[in-house]
Amino acid sequence: MVESAYIGLGSNLGDRLAYLQRAVTALAETSGLTGVLASGVYETAPYGVTDQPWFLNAVVRADSRLAPEALLEHLQRLEAQAHRQRDRHWGPRTLDLDLLLFGSRCLTSPALTVPHPHLTARSFVLVPLCDLDPELIHPVTGRTVAEHRHALGPDPTTRPYLVGGSPAILSTPPSGSQTHA
Ligand code: ADP
Ligand code: MG
Repeated sequence: MVESAYIGLGSNLGDRLAYLQRAVTALAETSGLTGVLASGVYETAPYGVTDQPWFLNAVVRADSRLAPEALLEHLQRLEAQAHRQRDRHWGPRTLDLDLLLFGSRCLTSPALTVPHPHLTARSFVLVPLCDLDPELIHPVTGRTVAEHRHALGPDPTTRPYLVGGSPAILSTPPSGSQTHA
């Protein structure tokens, strides 16, 4: 069974764009994930703990043959690979990967809650989700992600991230060389 998975990406340490790009490449090369597409990249104010650097955020969609639990484990392995490169530091993260939505499934366990519980409160998730599919329906609220974004109102702390004056793009490698999740 193939279901649409939406994954939130965030980084606020080191070469933030490179961490996001490596994550997109790794996801595109993962056996069990196909049709990988990335949203635009946004620079966003830190949420919760505010005395830390701004984040870059994006969302990736994929058709997943992996079960949600297996996909989350894979995301955690990718996080660990990125985290390992900054183990001597404390504080902000090189890479955060959250499973936002998985088909129309609603799962609740300490290890995995889907839809992601804070999805509807975060512009930095809703804005890139709307890039990919504004009509996507949140399976708990029954509302589209565009409606949730509208309900939050404009957020000046979620801004398109520009490189040399142009919006940054996360590229997906040509299909072919997939590795096992
Ligand atoms: P956050 O992303 O909320 O800042 P962490 O990435 O440190 O925090 O939290 C990861 C923990 O949240 C893991 O223990 C993981 O099992 C759990 N978790 C529950 N639901 C999800 C989800 N949908 N996506 C990612 N992690 C989740
Ligand atoms: Mg996380």
